[in-house]
Amino acid sequence: MNNPHENAVKQIDEVAALLAPLYPDKNRFDAAIARLKNPDQIIEGKLQITMDDGSTQEFQAYRSQHNNARGPYKGGIRFHPGVTKEEVMALSTWMTWKCAVTEIPYGGGKGGVVVDPRKLSSRELQELSRAFARLVADHVGPWVDVPAPDVNTTGEIMSWMVDEWQKVKIAKGESLQANPLATFTGKPLGLGGSEGREEATGLGGVFVLERLVAKLFSAKPKNEVRVAIQGFGNVGYWFAFHAHRLGYKVVAVSDSKGGIYADGGLDPVEVAEYKKQNGKLGSVKASVQTITNEALLELPVEIVVPSALENVITDQNAAQIKAKAIIEMANGPVTPEADQILEKNGVTVIADVLANAGGVTTSYFEWVQNLQGYYWKKEEVLAKLQPLMETAFDQMWELKTQTNQSARMATYMKAVKRVIDAMMLRGWV
Ligand code: NAD
Repeated sequence: MNNPHENAVKQIDEVAALLAPLYPDKNRFDAAIARLKNPDQIIEGKLQITMDDGSTQEFQAYRSQHNNARGPYKGGIRFHPGVTKEEVMALSTWMTWKCAVTEIPYGGGKGGVVVDPRKLSSRELQELSRAFARLVADHVGPWVDVPAPDVNTTGEIMSWMVDEWQKVKIAKGESLQANPLATFTGKPLGLGGSEGREEATGLGGVFVLERLVAKLFSAKPKNEVRVAIQGFGNVGYWFAFHAHRLGYKVVAVSDSKGGIYADGGLDPVEVAEYKKQNGKLGSVKASVQTITNEALLELPVEIVVPSALENVITDQNAAQIKAKAIIEMANGPVTPEADQILEKNGVTVIADVLANAGGVTTSYFEWVQNLQGYYWKKEEVLAKLQPLMETAFDQMWELKTQTNQSARMATYMKAVKRVIDAMMLRGWV
C-alpha cells in the first residue's frame, strides 16, 4: 500500500472533479480544495517517560487537525508501532468526511503514538497517556479538538488523559473555563461515558444494512438475506447481534484464528457464549463448518461485512467476491484497486465513512451529555442514532442515483461539499 496521505489527496482530486461544476467561482473552489489536501495543523513531539527499570524512553507522537470548518476537530488516538505522520494525516482527513456524512458538528482530527503498548506495564502506559495529554493540552478542548480511543487505546486511557488535561488547566489558572469530561470521548460510564456507545458502531451499520436491503433485495424475505461478517470484536459482534435480531441470516463470522459457517444461520449470542467457554468460535446449536478468513469473504452470500482489519479486499481477491454488496464496517477494508474491480462487477460498496459512522456519532452524543451535565438512557441514545444514520444513507443513495456514481463516490461528494460550503460561509476562501 502506498502513502495513505497520497491516497486521501487522490480521493479529494477525484471528488473535486465531480463537484467543480456546482461552484461557479472557480478560484474559490480551487482554493478550498487546495486547503483540504493538508491538515490545518499537526502537533508533534517526543513523549519522554521513565520506564519501570529506571531508564528513560522517548516515543514519537502526533495529533493531526485536518479541518474545523464544521466544528471542533474530532478523532481517535492510536497507540501502534506502525503509526506514521502520513497515516495520522490521512486518518484525520477521513474523519473530516465521516463527521460531515452524518452532519454531526465536528471537523476531523487524529492522533497517534509510535509504540507497542503490549510491551508497556500499566504504569508506563499511564505515564505515556498523561504525556500525550500534556503535549496536546493547549490544542484540545470541548470547542477545539475532542480526541477519543482508537486502535489499542481504551476508556481507561481516556480517563487518564481527562485527569492530566484538567491538571494542566488548573496549573495554568484556566480550570474555570475547562470542561475535561467534554474534551475526550469514549470514556467509561463511571467517568462521563455514554450509554449505548459500546454497541453503537455495529448497530449504526445495521441501520445502514436495513436501508441497503430495501434498495437491493426488497423482493427477498429477511431470512433469505445471507450475511457474512469478518471480525467478531466490538463492531463485528454487535453488527451480527442486531442483524440476527432483525431476522437476517448471519451465515458466517470469524476472528483472528479463523471463521465458522452454517448454512442455516448462526445465533451470535450463542456463538459468543461458545467462544467464552471454548476459547474459539463455534456453536452447539447449529451445524458449523470451519472456514478461513479469506474464504469467508468469497462466500456466495448477499452481503459481506468486513469488520476487522484494513486492506482485506484487494486486487488479488476482489474478482472472487460473490456478494452483491459490501458494508465496510472496518476502516479501509477495500483497497482503491479492489474498488475498481468491484464496481465493474456491479458490487455495491458502502464506504466506511458512512457505514461505521455510528461510533463517532455516539461520541458526539457523549460530548453533548458532558456539556449539558445531563445523561440519557441507552434507548434514548440509540434512538437518536437511527435517524442520523438513515438520513445519511438516504441522502447518499439519492445522489448516487442522480449522478450514477458509486456509493462511495456519492458519500464523498456529500461530505466534501458540506465542508467546502462551511469554509465558504466562513469566508476562508
Ligand atoms: P476489536 O479489536 O474489538 O475486534 C477486532 C476483531 O477482528 C476481533 O474479533 C479479532 O479477532 C478480529 N481480527 C483480528 N485480526 C484478524 C484477521 N487477521 N482476520 C480476521 N479477523 C481478525 O476491534 P473493533 O473495535 O471491533 O474494530 C474493528 C474495525 O472497525 C477496525 O477497523 C476499527 O478501526 C473499525 N471501527 C471501530 C469502531 C468502534 O467503535 N469500535 C468505530 C469505527 C471503526
